[in-house]
Amino acid sequence: MDWDEFADWGQHISKWGAEYHKSLRELPVRAQTGPGEVASQLPESPPEIPEDMKVILNDFETIIMPGMTHWQHPRFFAYFPANAAPPSMLAEMLVTTVAAQCMLWQTSPAATEVEIVMIDWLRQALTLPKKFSGVIQDSASSATLSAVLTMRERATGYTGNKDGLSSKGALRIYCSDQVHSSIDRACWVAGIGQDNLVKIPTVGANHAVDVSAMKQAIEDDLKKGYVPAGIIAITGGTGVGASDNLAPLVKLAKEYDLYTHLDAAWAGAAMICPEFHKTFWHGVDGFDSIVFNPHKWLGAQFDCSVQFLKDPAAQLNTLKIEPEYLKTSGADVTNFSEWTIPLGRRFRALKIWFLIRSYGLDGLRLRIRNHVKWAHELCEKLRNTNEIEVVTEPILSLFSFRCAGDDERQQRLVDAINDDGRIYLTQGMFERQKIIRFQVGQFETTREDVMMAHTVIREIMETLK
Ligand code: PLP
Repeated sequence: MDWDEFADWGQHISKWGAEYHKSLRELPVRAQTGPGEVASQLPESPPEIPEDMKVILNDFETIIMPGMTHWQHPRFFAYFPANAAPPSMLAEMLVTTVAAQCMLWQTSPAATEVEIVMIDWLRQALTLPKKFSGVIQDSASSATLSAVLTMRERATGYTGNKDGLSSKGALRIYCSDQVHSSIDRACWVAGIGQDNLVKIPTVGANHAVDVSAMKQAIEDDLKKGYVPAGIIAITGGTGVGASDNLAPLVKLAKEYDLYTHLDAAWAGAAMICPEFHKTFWHGVDGFDSIVFNPHKWLGAQFDCSVQFLKDPAAQLNTLKIEPEYLKTSGADVTNFSEWTIPLGRRFRALKIWFLIRSYGLDGLRLRIRNHVKWAHELCEKLRNTNEIEVVTEPILSLFSFRCAGDDERQQRLVDAINDDGRIYLTQGMFERQKIIRFQVGQFETTREDVMMAHTVIREIMETLK
């Protein structure tokens, strides 16, 4: 393909993209294909001779697209959103076009410097103190793994990387029983082990970790010879939005000299709205590490996860490695690959720059506020609907409900709703019962889209009788 053909196809694809997005409401949200259906339409072996782009794109439309679940559909109410606001998509097109590998300052100074400034814009947007710097990672899972590795190294006097862990006492990390599975996985990978991730029950309306129970667990562990290494808090858990009281956790961590990490992967975006701070953000400035995903609710195209660090030295002491071929001479510069596990880095900051400039923080706040308002409104409507019980109240824009019947009926309702295709929901577990989660967060969602969910849920419930 030459560059003139590239320009023609690029134009064709961006027009196709606009039409796709404009027609999303006509499509079923969740893919309606069965397992193996897409793969069975692909040739078993790669072609030996070149194929025409026209043919390739035709196959994309007829084979691939029917097997896609539409995450940008305005009636996507499952999981958490992975938004892609149009300006952030344009930035991604530019990033893909320039195709730089931005591991070091000198491998693209602009990428590093825009990243430093975007981290600071977001720091201000979330009203974190000036002392916080940070880094953009691919996902919250990677940021959390970096933080857990830092907890491990800090607790072992920065000897774990060199000596391995066999001679150290068992390290312990403390969190609530509402944390995301990425915390478990980080503990597996870091060599902490699942059994040393101590999960404490939650209390109160926001399902916050019981801090006095956590203190007791730390005391008990110290008596048994364990080595407490860190506390992981959550703001906006995946199941029902569980949110810890941050200030007492910071106080507890200080008392036992523990490193602290906050997972605000989803709810962090809502903290650009100051009215949510009193409930969710008080004490946040005491955390060592905070992760939030602009690629979830804020609108930046996946992937884009920001990890704020109060003092990056501990994470750099854990992850920085500098072979001769990565050394750069001259000025004192930031090389972000030293802050993270992967060496190679995409220019993710550009989409934040495009996003914030295009909407302004106020434009982004308006969306989040509407989502929260509409989630509350739908929750009330469902509460007043026969055979529906609200199980957990809205935390920001997430609540959960059950229909009459056992767990098996909840799953049948979820599956039937998703087979219908007008909306997309997912299930969860809360207090050993299956629940149906509902979150509002897609960038183009309107009030009508959210209210339509009420009609769909009622209609599909009728068909299950
Ligand atoms: N933390 C929370 C609360 C989440 O909801 C999720 C994913 O939805 C994650 C962490 C993991 O995010 P990522 O896919 O960026 O690793």
